Amino acid sequence: MYLVGTLEIVFNRPLTSEENIVQYIAQLIEFLNNDYLKRGARDPKEAATIKNYRIDESKIVLEIETGVKVRLDEASLRIRNVLASNLGRKYRLGIRSLLLRNPKVIIDGRTDVSIRIPIVKNIIQNENSTVIELVDLDESDIKKPLFLRFLRLLEEKEQRLKWGGKAEHWSLLKSSGIKISSPINVDPNKVLEDIGWIKRMSIGQWLYTPPLTHLLNALKKLFIDEVLKPLGFEEAIFPKMYPLEVGIKTGHLKGVINSMIFASLPKSFNISEFEDLIDYIYVMDEVSPEDLQKYLKPPSYFLCFAQCEPFYWFFENEILDDESLPIKWYDHSGPSYRWESGGIHGIERVIEFHRIEVVWLGKPEQVIEIRNELLNKYEYFMDKVLDLEWRMAWVTPWYYEQTGITQKVEMDIDRPGTIDFEAWLPYRGPRDDNKNWLEIGNISIHGTKFTESFRIKHNRGEILWTGCSGFGSERWLIALLAQKGLNPENWPKKFFEYVSASPFPRSIR
Ligand code: ATP
Ligand code: ZN
Ligand code: MG
Ligand code: MG
Ligand code: MG
Repeated sequence: MYLVGTLEIVFNRPLTSEENIVQYIAQLIEFLNNDYLKRGARDPKEAATIKNYRIDESKIVLEIETGVKVRLDEASLRIRNVLASNLGRKYRLGIRSLLLRNPKVIIDGRTDVSIRIPIVKNIIQNENSTVIELVDLDESDIKKPLFLRFLRLLEEKEQRLKWGGKAEHWSLLKSSGIKISSPINVDPNKVLEDIGWIKRMSIGQWLYTPPLTHLLNALKKLFIDEVLKPLGFEEAIFPKMYPLEVGIKTGHLKGVINSMIFASLPKSFNISEFEDLIDYIYVMDEVSPEDLQKYLKPPSYFLCFAQCEPFYWFFENEILDDESLPIKWYDHSGPSYRWESGGIHGIERVIEFHRIEVVWLGKPEQVIEIRNELLNKYEYFMDKVLDLEWRMAWVTPWYYEQTGITQKVEMDIDRPGTIDFEAWLPYRGPRDDNKNWLEIGNISIHGTKFTESFRIKHNRGEILWTGCSGFGSERWLIALLAQKGLNPENWPKKFFEYVSASPFPRSIR
């Protein structure tokens, strides 16, 4: 990707009046091209160059070409500053105005970009490149975040073209080793449905009867008692329906809008305005979604997706001091919703699922330490408490995956990133095929991704990071039942103890 444009700088009086000025400008352009416009980019191709220029009475017209490190906007301002300060000091020349004419972005390959963006004038698709023509920009336009965000969007699109086709990153960090000696070939999802412990209400959505609820609760309680409480995490209750602005700040609206579920308010609180619809339902005993839609406002909420969104929102614009840090909470007050399209299976991959979401906020070293403590506890939980066959891997961070950012994944576990926990599901097939493993949870540090977008600050200006970990309740239970079976005699001791702590609910025949 490169950018071109014509920069017109108008001075308060003619520049051609003195030969000295013309010569001095030539020197300044040389300095800009050889030095100042190259600063901040290792590769000169990523920096900026003045291809040629001409002086026209009180105007300088410069043709610039730039890469992505010193971009058109930055280059224009650097040129402006060098000319203004030097010509001002020496010849008392002042700049009247600055205009960037016909700015263009040229991208390798075919890229689509919305023509509705106000600064986009025209898009030309060539065989192997895309030229995006922008409107003329004055100094204040150049400084607006709109222009910067637009260029960032194009860079991300280019990155996606480069990396997007590639598979998700996955590198093994550790595994429990071979554990299960006599694998069970039964799909617990199927058994649970056959014995009537779960019933499907609609695609990817189930009712869990008391016996299954009892098992889910026992497992969640075990996790909270063995992992979260000893580490000092405290329970909070997060909302499960979020205003759209929250999804702009987390990035979900631009990353996974195709999997989000939205909610609408009614157009009116006055029930008489629904009379026509109500009469129809009364007599016809049916309602069509298209008909219903006429009575609803456009969606203004999205349903819980990552479950940690409210945590960042809560601290938005807040200033925290050392005494309140680190903050360590968890929430399991309600479901998450994802449109999973195909791929739905049993209670393993559903549209409405339940999870314990663990969140923390602190200085980078605190956030890393908490992640490490959790990691140890998770390992203990999988090995000693549940005796699972598991593995963990360094994967594409969820906050890239879900927010539309495409980037190469660095393999360094003390840097921001995501670790997935996976369990082998013997009913699916042999352990050496990756398809037969299920992601049951993960643990991440996000760096400043959310403290930046929600402007969460430290009182002495120190950097703050966040972390989160999702314990997918259905997934852990399925992993346990798939590996241990449905006979309580074969369940791990601690789990059995928790299940037996209160009377087992009756099944409905
Ligand atoms: P997958 O790779 O299986 O699609 P994910 O990476 O999209 O999962 P995350 O966004 O990391 O999932 O969510 C955290 C946890 O929530 C997962 O590790 C899993 O335990 C659980 N989870 C995610 N999606 C579902 C779903 N559709 N049904 C049940 N549990 C889910
Ligand atoms: Zn999270
Ligand atoms: Mg997923
Ligand atoms: Mg994940
Ligand atoms: Mg995943």
